Amino acid sequence: MDVQFWGVRGTFPVARRPASRIGGNTPCAAVTSGAGDVFIIDAGTGIRTLGDALIAGRKTGPLRLSLIFTHFHLDHVQGLPFFAPLLLVDAEIRFYSALDPEDMKGYLGRLMGKPYFPMPFDRTPAAKSFHKIDGAGIGIGSVRISACPLHHPQGSVAYRLEEDGAAVVFATDTEPVADRVDERLAEFAKGASCLVYDAMFTPEEYVSGRQGWGHSTWLEGAKLAKAAGVSNLILSHFNPDHSDRVILGLARRARGIFPATTCAREGLRLTLTPNGPTARGREADRS
Ligand SMILES: [Zn+2]
Ligand SMILES: [Zn+2]
Repeated sequence: MDVQFWGVRGTFPVARRPASRIGGNTPCAAVTSGAGDVFIIDAGTGIRTLGDALIAGRKTGPLRLSLIFTHFHLDHVQGLPFFAPLLLVDAEIRFYSALDPEDMKGYLGRLMGKPYFPMPFDRTPAAKSFHKIDGAGIGIGSVRISACPLHHPQGSVAYRLEEDGAAVVFATDTEPVADRVDERLAEFAKGASCLVYDAMFTPEEYVSGRQGWGHSTWLEGAKLAKAAGVSNLILSHFNPDHSDRVILGLARRARGIFPATTCAREGLRLTLTPNGPTARGREADRS
């Protein structure tokens, strides 16, 4: 199972040059199973380049994709109108979230409806279907996907994707529970090869007026990674006001508590094994 990051910025995209190493696109990651099934986590602006790459790399036959939403805040959906596979007549896109399928369909329809976008969602040529991932989880091909609720305004969920004993957990929009590790999330992430975690604020920023905003810190990520016994912690969902230098500093500080910590960045690709990702993940911090 492979994980590749296409957008790692929270809240809104940034285009300034100091963002160039980490990248300025909002959340999108692609997980590819051993059999080649593609699971996309969130449709932030990073999904535009992912869509182009999927089309460029397609083999013969329909392009089949699963697009899984953690929630529907703008930073996680704003790339969808520009996702080129939606325009292919021979693409089959299965949409997943923790919500009722009809609600999800309605949200996406409004996002791409008049007067916000010229091509209505339900008129895009790709074949589309809508599904719910509930507490019991689902199996798609060789991959098992389960969900865990997070502490976030209007709700968000973490997803765990697991294949052949290797697991990645995405927990990108969540607020710490006061004075203790989020035990429900620690249990959910238990033994994962990779935990992708919300590092929006520094601990200093968090206690200076950012409580209740629904986001977390590298410090909570490091404590959670330790409690859950994951192999690697990947910090992500970075603050648009943080420079590359600040972001690389977050991982350095986190390594004081949880040594196997790195920063997500656009283009970072990890091959997951039951014991963690390949060394390519750690190379990110030396670059
Ligand atoms: Zn977000
Ligand atoms: Zn959010």
